Amino acid sequence: MSEKTPVAPASNFIRNIVEHDLEQGTYKHRHWASSPGDAQHHAAGEIDPAKIRTRFPPEPNGYLHIGHAKSICLNFGLARDFGGVCHMRFDDTNPEKEEQEYVDSIIDSVTWLGFDWNVFGESHLYFASNYFDFMYRAAEILIESGHAYVDQQTAEEMRINRGTLTEPGKNSPWRDRSAVENLALFREMRDGKHADGSMILRAKIDMASPNINLRDPAIYRIKHAHHHNTGDKWCIYPMYTFAHPLEDAYERVTHSLCTLEFEDQRPFYDWVLAKLAEAGLLAHPLPRQYEFSRLNLTYVVLSKRKLIELVEKQFVSGWDDPRLPTLVGARRRGYAPEGFRLFTDRIGISKTDSWIEYTILEDCMREVLNASAERRIAVLDPIKLVIDNYPEGQSEDCHAPNHPQKPELGHRVVPLSRELWIEREDFMEAPPKGYFRLFPGNMVRLRYGYVVKCTSFEKDADGNITTVHCEYLPDTKSGTPGADSVKVKGNIHWVSAAHAFAGEIRLYDRLFKEARPGEGDRNYLDDINPDSVKIITAQLEPSLQQARPEERFQFERHGYFVADSKDSQSGKPVFNRTVTLRDAWQK
Ligand code: ATP
Ligand code: MG
Repeated sequence: MSEKTPVAPASNFIRNIVEHDLEQGTYKHRHWASSPGDAQHHAAGEIDPAKIRTRFPPEPNGYLHIGHAKSICLNFGLARDFGGVCHMRFDDTNPEKEEQEYVDSIIDSVTWLGFDWNVFGESHLYFASNYFDFMYRAAEILIESGHAYVDQQTAEEMRINRGTLTEPGKNSPWRDRSAVENLALFREMRDGKHADGSMILRAKIDMASPNINLRDPAIYRIKHAHHHNTGDKWCIYPMYTFAHPLEDAYERVTHSLCTLEFEDQRPFYDWVLAKLAEAGLLAHPLPRQYEFSRLNLTYVVLSKRKLIELVEKQFVSGWDDPRLPTLVGARRRGYAPEGFRLFTDRIGISKTDSWIEYTILEDCMREVLNASAERRIAVLDPIKLVIDNYPEGQSEDCHAPNHPQKPELGHRVVPLSRELWIEREDFMEAPPKGYFRLFPGNMVRLRYGYVVKCTSFEKDADGNITTVHCEYLPDTKSGTPGADSVKVKGNIHWVSAAHAFAGEIRLYDRLFKEARPGEGDRNYLDDINPDSVKIITAQLEPSLQQARPEERFQFERHGYFVADSKDSQSGKPVFNRTVTLRDAWQK
C-alpha cells in the first residue's frame, strides 16, 4: 500500500542524522518485544527488525491539515526510506477533549496519503492512554528517587515563584518533603482524595535554571474528568511534556521529530528519560528529540483553533469544504496524495521558521495531475457555434486521446454535429492583434475535428454574442491524410450541443485574499476572500456523465477538476476545480 516515491528525496539535516546513526550502529542492538513496554519487557524480545522507529502523534481533537501532512510524510517517509517503522500514535492523554470522529478521520487521512503502520507483520497503531499505568509508575519512581514532589502552592503562588526570564524562581515551601510523604500524597491524589488544583506533582530540578521549563515543571495534575478510553479509572493525568518522552521510550522510538516550539522542552525530555533509565525503568539507547520548523503556508491558516472557528461560524460548509486546508478538504478539492509527498520533499525541512508560497503546493498538484489525470472537454462559458454547411441531423465520431503523453490510456469518442458549444472567449467581433481564435473571416481548428471558417454572428438585445456561424472544410478532419492541408494558428475546444450535458461546476479560489491572514493587528477573519467560490453550469462532453466520485480530470485548457464526493449523483456528477492550469494570481 505505501507507494515508493519515484525519486529519492533530497537530503536534509534529519536524514543526515539518521544516516549517521545507522553508520554508527547506534540502534543496532536494541530489542523490541512486539508491543510497547518498559526496559524489562523489551529485553525479553528479539533484536528490533526496524532499523529506526519514528512516530506521528496527533492529539485526536481536530481534523488534520496540510501542516500535519508535512509531519506525516516526514515521519513515515523516513521509516520507509531507512528500513524502519513509523508508529501511528494517538496522543490522547488529555481527558474530555478527544472524540472518536477525529480518530477515524485521522486514520483515514494518513492512509489516504499512502502510508501504512502495518510493518514487519505487526500493526503499530497505538493509543497513549493505554500507557497510563506505566506513566503513573514512572512518576512514583521519580518520587522514590527524590526527583519529584507534591506541591500544594496555589496556581498563583506557583506562577509568582517561577521567576522570570531575568530572575530566578523561588523554591516551594513543599519542595523538601520526604519521599515517603510525597508518595503517600501522590497516592491520595490518585485515589481521589483531593480536589482539582489543590496539589500537583512536580519534577524536582532547578528553580534557578535559565531554562524556565526546568524550574520544577508539573508532571501530574488532578483532573476529575471522564476519559474516552479509560473512563473514570483515573482522576490524575500526566502533563503533555512528561507524557511525551515516556510514550516515545515505551514504544522504543529512536528519532522523535517535533516542531520548533518544543526546542526549549528538549532538556526536560532528556531529563525525564535519563532519570528513569538510571532507575532501570527504561533502556538505552533512549529516544532523541529533533526539532524542525513548522509549515506556514501563504493564503491559508493552519491552526486548529482558527480552523474550528471557520467551521463553527460557517465561513465554510464544514471540515471537508474544498477551500479549507484540512486533508479532508484537500481531498474533496481533488488534491492528490502524491502531490503532498512531492511537496514535502520539495520544500525540505529546516530549523528556521519561514512561509512557503501556496503556489509551490499548487505546482506539485499540477505536476502530479498532469501526469495522471485523463483529459476531457468542458465548455465553462458556452455560446453556440453553428456549422452552416454541415447537414442537420447528422453526426460523426471524433477521436480524442485520453492523455497526450500516454497513448496506452487510449482515446474516447466525442461526437460532432452541426451545432456546438464553444467558449465565449474563443470568439471576438473585433479582435486585437495577435488573437488567433474565431472572428469574422478567420479560420481555426476545432480540436480533434475540422478546420472551420467564421462567417457571421448574432447578438441579443443587450449586445451579447449568442451564436457564431461558420463553415467547415470537409477535407481537414484531424487524423485523416488531408488534415494539414490548411494551416491555422488557433485551436479551440467544443462539445456537440445535441450530445453534451449541462453540469454544475464549482470554481474554487483562495479562501484568504491576504498572503498572511491576520498578520499585524488585522483579524484573520477580515482577510477572507469574499469570492472564493463561483458556481456555474457548464456544457460537458458525454463521457463525463460516467465520472465516479473522486475521479480527477484535466478539462482541456482550463485546469484540473474532480467529481465531488458528496454531491455527485449517478449520471449527474458535480465537479470541483482543483487548480487552474497556470497560476492566475501571478501576473
Ligand atoms: P495546532 O497547534 O494547530 O493545534 P498541533 O500541532 O497541536 O496543532 P497535533 O495533533 O499535536 O496538533 O500534531 C501532531 C503532529 O503534527 C505534531 O508532531 C506536530 O508537530 C505536527 N504538526 C502540527 N502542525 C504542523 C505544521 N504546521 N507543520 C508541521 N508539523 C505540524
Ligand atoms: Mg499539539
